[in-house]
Amino acid sequence: MNQYVPINYLNHLAYCPRRFWYMFVCGELAINAPMLEGSLQHKRADTPGKETDDNGRTVNRRIWVWNDDLNIAGFADFVEENGNGDIIPVEYKHGRRAQWDNDQIQLCAQALCLEKMLGRPITTGEIFYRKTRRRLTIPFDQTLRTATQEAITAAHTIMANNTIPAAIAERKKCKHCSIQPICLPDELGKLHKGVAHA
Ligand code: SF4
Repeated sequence: MNQYVPINYLNHLAYCPRRFWYMFVCGELAINAPMLEGSLQHKRADTPGKETDDNGRTVNRRIWVWNDDLNIAGFADFVEENGNGDIIPVEYKHGRRAQWDNDQIQLCAQALCLEKMLGRPITTGEIFYRKTRRRLTIPFDQTLRTATQEAITAAHTIMANNTIPAAIAERKKCKHCSIQPICLPDELGKLHKGVAHA
């Protein structure tokens, strides 16, 4: 039987498969300053609880979600239920919105779990970016669902093959990656060029 993939590691996979390999398969815990800041600010989302406001909106904090068909599991920071009975997963991020879709994929994986657990469709979620104090609505459209399914399949494939993925070409991502001092993508690139010209 396939091992379960933790949902938060799907975020790393969507960012870079090699990063997923180092962090999940090898258990590397390289922490950079933004990651440390983020985990300190994440305290409230990490405290289980439930609150209902005057508008009938219920907020559940730190909910364990899973999908046995997809072999994924993990925590949702917040799961809200509004007065209309809509279920809305909300992910808390300490930074600002990046140009990549890894946060959306993490959120959509939570929705795929909630749909399976509750037997009802989840149409939108939200991501709260603390730095900009913006709450972004994310529709779970077919494009995002397909990208999320692909990320889940890729995670299971990497785990089954037990082979480190190649460094990605988008060096812009590497600049912000805490794994860079271990991964050494530029040094590896130069080495490979040297070998090719030898
Ligand atoms: S440094 Fe770049 S290639 Fe290496 S794990 Fe990070 S994002 Fe991926």
